Amino acid sequence: MTDSSIPKFFEKSHEEKLNIISNFSDLTDDEVNHLKNATGGIDFEHANKMIENAISTFSLPLGIATNFKINNKDYLVPMVIEEPSVIAAASKAAKIAKIHGGFTASVEGNVSIGQIQLREKIGLNEILDIKEKILAGSKEILELANSKSNTLTKLGKGAKEILCKEVLSSDHGNGRYMIVELMIDVGDAMGANVTNTMCEAVAPLIEKLTGKTTLLRILSNYSTKRMVTAMATFDKDAVGGEQVVNDMISAFDFADNDIYRAVTHNKGVMNGTISVANATGQDSRAIEAAAHAYASHTGRYRSLTTWAKDDSGNLVGKFEIPLSVGIVGGVTNDHPVAKICTKILNLTSVQDLACIMASTGLAQNFAAMRALVTEGIQKGHMKLHARKQASNS
Ligand code: NAD
Repeated sequence: MTDSSIPKFFEKSHEEKLNIISNFSDLTDDEVNHLKNATGGIDFEHANKMIENAISTFSLPLGIATNFKINNKDYLVPMVIEEPSVIAAASKAAKIAKIHGGFTASVEGNVSIGQIQLREKIGLNEILDIKEKILAGSKEILELANSKSNTLTKLGKGAKEILCKEVLSSDHGNGRYMIVELMIDVGDAMGANVTNTMCEAVAPLIEKLTGKTTLLRILSNYSTKRMVTAMATFDKDAVGGEQVVNDMISAFDFADNDIYRAVTHNKGVMNGTISVANATGQDSRAIEAAAHAYASHTGRYRSLTTWAKDDSGNLVGKFEIPLSVGIVGGVTNDHPVAKICTKILNLTSVQDLACIMASTGLAQNFAAMRALVTEGIQKGHMKLHARKQASNS
């Protein structure tokens, strides 16, 4: 089975749903049983090795969004989220996007940025001299950095470039910090640890080259060398006609020009992206931090998505986000449910995962805006909420 359009998936029994997923993604009996028993994935011993002071584990619902077609391949998208209506909304949006071929997404690269701060503030007169010393030692710095990861070196990846920049201090003098930046192709990993390891490893060499001492040595989560773009065309008639399309563009316009609306609009986008991040064991804090910083990259906080009409009056959406994700490392290979979710996605590369996360964010944003300009957001939300309240009383 390769088609992600599964009519009335929400009406199927737990067993039927698992059979469908199992057929779609070739899950083993063990994997299906793991999902069926709904244990949430890890036992206490496992949790106790992951964090300090562990006392228990905590699980959340895992659901499947249907209808996704991304770069001409169908996906059933696992989403971990506690909020009702998000998965139904993503599935509905993906169904409409499929009319015009689904989502088109691309990834710019997988380069992590490591930062090394020189401790002493420097004056304008010193900048060129220090930069020259660092750049003259680039080859040596890169070799030292790459000696810390045999895996990346063997893959032809690793530290590729050294950049220097000055950051003005907030004190009232003319002091500046010199920041050395390591550009590291981290392959299929998020790469936080390898980036930090490389930064710490090269700091003594930078001290030797410059005669200065270093202070911070850490990756930047503002992963602008890992930009992902997802686009889709939503059929005018399926959206609800010209008025709904126009109203959705006005809704976007509102978000793009008012921070109070933009934050909520972008939270809706992240409902999609972060649910997939959770399901696949990503560092969601890193993704959120980068996304909201990027929302301000023009100098004011704006919508992370853009919406316009094409020549036929269809609604075209675009979502751009810096995304640091991995399919190896962290808990991606360690958490049993994250591993199964990665398998459900039939990923062939880390770029596929980034494209899926961006497409899910765009789908979610479409669905939220459409609900807001038509029936309102509460109808969908309250359906399940009412069920939950009833079961609590
Ligand atoms: P990791 O430390 O598990 O390293 C990834 C491992 O995968 C490396 O040992 C690498 O050699 C190996 N590997 C195998 N095949 C690979 C391939 N094809 N491409 C790349 N690497 C390959 O994980 P990580 O990705 O370095 O770090 C992620 C973890 O670090 C997350 O849990 C994150 O929460 C945490 N972290 C985050 C921050 C931050 O965001 N500021 C800081 C520190 C740690």
